[in-house]
Amino acid sequence: MVRPIQNIVIVGGGTAGWLAAGVIAARHQGRMKTGFTVTLVESPNIGIIGVGEGTWPTMRSTLEKIGVSETAFFRECDTAFKQGASFARWTTGAANDAYYHPLMLPQGFTQLNLVPHWLRSGRGRSFCDAVCPQGQLCDDGLAPKMITTPEYQAVANYAYHLDAGKFAPFLQRHCTEKLGVRHVQADVLTVNRAENGDIASLTTRQAGDIPGDLFVDCSGFSALLLGKTLGVPFKDCSDVLFCDTALAVQVPYETPDAPMASHTISTAQKAGWIWDIGLPTRRGIGYVYSSRHSSEEAAQEELARYVGPAIKGLSVRKIPIRSGHRETFWKNNCVAVGLAAGFLEPLEASAIVLVELSAKLIAEQMPANREVMDIVAARFNDVTSYRWGRIVDFLKLHYVLTKRTDSRFWIDNVDPVSVPDRLKNLLLLWKYRSPWFFDEFDRLEEVFPAASYQYVLYGMGFRSEVDPSDSDGTDAIAARLVEENAAVTRRMRSQLPKNRDLIRKIHDFGLQPI
Ligand SMILES: Cc1cc2nc3c(=O)[nH]c(=O)nc-3n(C[C@H](O)[C@H](O)[C@H](O)COP(=O)(O)OP(=O)(O)OC[C@H]3O[C@@H](n4cnc5c(N)ncnc54)[C@H](O)[C@@H]3O)c2cc1C
Repeated sequence: MVRPIQNIVIVGGGTAGWLAAGVIAARHQGRMKTGFTVTLVESPNIGIIGVGEGTWPTMRSTLEKIGVSETAFFRECDTAFKQGASFARWTTGAANDAYYHPLMLPQGFTQLNLVPHWLRSGRGRSFCDAVCPQGQLCDDGLAPKMITTPEYQAVANYAYHLDAGKFAPFLQRHCTEKLGVRHVQADVLTVNRAENGDIASLTTRQAGDIPGDLFVDCSGFSALLLGKTLGVPFKDCSDVLFCDTALAVQVPYETPDAPMASHTISTAQKAGWIWDIGLPTRRGIGYVYSSRHSSEEAAQEELARYVGPAIKGLSVRKIPIRSGHRETFWKNNCVAVGLAAGFLEPLEASAIVLVELSAKLIAEQMPANREVMDIVAARFNDVTSYRWGRIVDFLKLHYVLTKRTDSRFWIDNVDPVSVPDRLKNLLLLWKYRSPWFFDEFDRLEEVFPAASYQYVLYGMGFRSEVDPSDSDGTDAIAARLVEENAAVTRRMRSQLPKNRDLIRKIHDFGLQPI
């Protein structure tokens, strides 16, 4: 009889390792009674990266599915709401240059593409404000729901900002106490191979040998299993995405009740951009820059200018970034998730969402036995390669639409040599029609749907030359949708509480469990 895949061994206890453990264990709870095991091996000596504070709305369904209480998550991970991102000074660099990439779809998105109508008649307002309430909710500092809205449900679509140092231990408690995940604190010293090249077991310093049927490499940048042991090459993307260093700092609020943004604020700088993420107890701020285009001293100065006098006495952490990903993600009986699979840059928070999607795919497509594993691996590689390619395109879109010429960094970013061919083709296509359903976005669970492209393109002043006569008789529907959006915006602005007030209430009273 062919041996079933029963023992899943995950190496790494960061956000990727614990999310993968939770998603796989929750999906296979029924099989746990018949010998299916999930073991997570984590070094007590190598720390987790401890950054990664912005997520995508998928996190709501991921946490709900693995049985986490949203109230506990808010209380224990210094969690806040995220309703998208604002991008300041990306297009011209002027003080009033800003746009939103919100998390709500344009009004009536599945029914009608509003871009051509907005291009023809709505130019007095930003595209975002014309079609979606969320930019104005963010301007007003409002939360995306009310205390009476049950856990994980939304009035306005939302994701989270969280404290990465608290998230992994929080997931660990849940996975070990509620989902039966075995936690082994040990350093992996040797990875032992079988005759067919598979990984047979891990030899650890503290816990002896750990055998497994499927190994999930969540060992962070070291890519201990897929990279170092199985030798899968790294595909460097720094010719497209130049940022290779982050300077991160945690900044306290001036007063405990200071207003807190419910979106990521991303402000372009001379050689990169600064993230600003508001958590209930502090802000996480970081300058992601290209060391080819700025010295560390100059970057430190720009960061200090952004933070202001509050930076005095705070420790700034330097984190190198290697932009790229593995050429394949699943080889033999080993699949990489998280930083072991790759990393680009944190613009648009695409890393943790990819962890969630990968973990879900592994859990759902869990091969029954070794005989069928290569078929599952090939599918996984196909979907995951597509996703990484798409993310590279989407991140580059933010740079390639700039009109800034005030530094080499921005000039080099629009050099056609640095733009992937697929993105070049899409930009050419979109000169004459806007992205919508009938574009390339045809895969299930796109990380960034056509709506995201619309917000960035038209937020940055891209011009699609739509034919005025090509409205297909939909002007009246478009006018109604825009009017509906204005009404929804008025209603939400009058109903929703301030962001900090709702978080305080969640801490005091909790959200209604579902
Ligand atoms: C500057 C920066 C900002 C970021 N911002 C965002 C963001 O806003 N949004 C987002 O989605 N993502 C962001 N990310 C990415 C995000 O931080 C990671 O995707 C996420 O934290 C997952 O990390 P990980 O679990 O893969 O790796 P790590 O946290 O590095 O964990 C690696 C684990 O492997 C273990 N390990 C390593 N070697 C061994 C060994 N020999 N034996 C046993 N165990 C071992 C370690 O002990 C550790 O537990 C950011 C990344 C950076 C660098």
